[in-house]
Amino acid sequence: MNDVDRNELFIGGRWVAPQSGAGTDVLEAATGKVLGRSATASNADIDAAVAAARSALSGPWGALSPTERADLLDRFAGALKARGRDTARLVTRENGMPISLSNAVNGFGPAAMVSYYAGLIRSSTGDDVRPSTFGGRTVVRREPVGVVAAITPWNYPQPLAAMKLAPALAAGCTVVLKPAPETALDAFVFADAAADAGLPAGVINVVPAGREAGAYLVEHPEVDKVAFTGSTAAGRAIGEVCGRLLRPVTLELGGKSASIVTENADLDVFAANLLEVSLVNNGQTCHASTRILAPRSRYDEVVDAVTETVRALTVGDPLDPATQIGPLVSEAQRTRVLGYIEDGRAAGYRITTGGSAPASQPLGWFVEPTVFVDVDNSARIAQEEIFGPVLTVIPFADEDEAVAIANDSEYGLGGTVWTTDEQHGFDLAARIHSGTIGVNHYALDLNAPFGGVKASGLGRELGPEGLAPYYTAKSVYFGTR
Ligand code: NAD
Repeated sequence: MNDVDRNELFIGGRWVAPQSGAGTDVLEAATGKVLGRSATASNADIDAAVAAARSALSGPWGALSPTERADLLDRFAGALKARGRDTARLVTRENGMPISLSNAVNGFGPAAMVSYYAGLIRSSTGDDVRPSTFGGRTVVRREPVGVVAAITPWNYPQPLAAMKLAPALAAGCTVVLKPAPETALDAFVFADAAADAGLPAGVINVVPAGREAGAYLVEHPEVDKVAFTGSTAAGRAIGEVCGRLLRPVTLELGGKSASIVTENADLDVFAANLLEVSLVNNGQTCHASTRILAPRSRYDEVVDAVTETVRALTVGDPLDPATQIGPLVSEAQRTRVLGYIEDGRAAGYRITTGGSAPASQPLGWFVEPTVFVDVDNSARIAQEEIFGPVLTVIPFADEDEAVAIANDSEYGLGGTVWTTDEQHGFDLAARIHSGTIGVNHYALDLNAPFGGVKASGLGRELGPEGLAPYYTAKSVYFGTR
């Protein structure tokens, strides 16, 4: 047995063998070798997890005051933080995320989110008493929506799970977490931390499995809300089911965001941020600004800045703190990304750097960071989410055209504007149809909502807005007598 193997599921506060005895190998992205084995849930295990979450709702968890919940969440945050360094390493080995990024988002992120939501409920005022329009008064209660099915992908497995767990628990809900098989091992850290922190049994249940079990969980009659992050295709399927069931659902899906480089942009600032904004996590980031829109008046300068910056990136072992681009998560993902590169090449678009799997990396699923230039926005490589280290540079004549190109996308998740005039950047940002956008910078903010429009999803996570979907409002009317 490997020291990262996890042969048991976490259900109802206990470690239990999967009922079918099933397990799945998790591969190491940088080597392609087996990293460890994870217990895999069957439908019977999902039933048990949902039942445990349901009974925890009406058990001690449901009886806690917001302050008592906040105290427990602070202990949970502490237990996650204590494991942060190991968690970051584990995720890097699972999915290839450069360790410097993983330390921040997987090591630090979940504890920060849990603390953030603990703080929000601790300072909340509770029930809202309002004078009734017709005399008397109404007490508006915020009640937990119930049992939450949280379904997460492999690219940012820890923060994407925490974006659901933290507000759900803060609101008094209970959770069944179904992580992606590629990153099943790190999901058990939430179980370890829950047990250490003394969260009541059944408040968090961890059941890694594939998409069939995920679909079973979404349809489960005892689930009250679904919170999903993943591909737009899966999000549509889940949204259809939830629509039929009239079940609340939050969907964080794909993206194909645009970076608008304006005529007065400081290209040094733009280039210094390119990795973080456009290629973060080896390009496996839903909000990455992968379409670079460049003014014709400065087109060659922008192409040179993008090409030189991308060419200089350090590709290699994701556990090395100096690495900027690691391997993709899986062979399937690399095949998909190389397929898009071939498609762009076949369509006649010019590559200024990259364009294949690096010969220097015989093991693992590396792809050279790649830049296509002179691209038309209608090209497949400009319209579809590649989810790898591939950028397209697209020229524009004036800002009206830049806005039209940026908005000519199925998606609407992120984006960036580069300008030395912040007010102009803000005005331009307002014209982009997306859920988030950055000016000379792009980074999620725990205190502000994150999510998309159009095919990028429904609803918001993070900020106070990310707590609201885990409550249901109940109005209790009192008359005058
Ligand atoms: P995926 O949609 O295939 O899988 C995501 C998760 O959903 C996995 O746990 C999977 O087992 C499960 N799943 C898949 N189909 C399901 C179904 N029909 N019912 C229930 N569960 C199902 O996505 P992926 O390949 O793992 O992740 C990459 C995608 O996720 C990209 O498209 C990316 O843009 C998107 N993503 C979006 C955000 C965001 O916040 N908007 C964040 C990260 C990733």
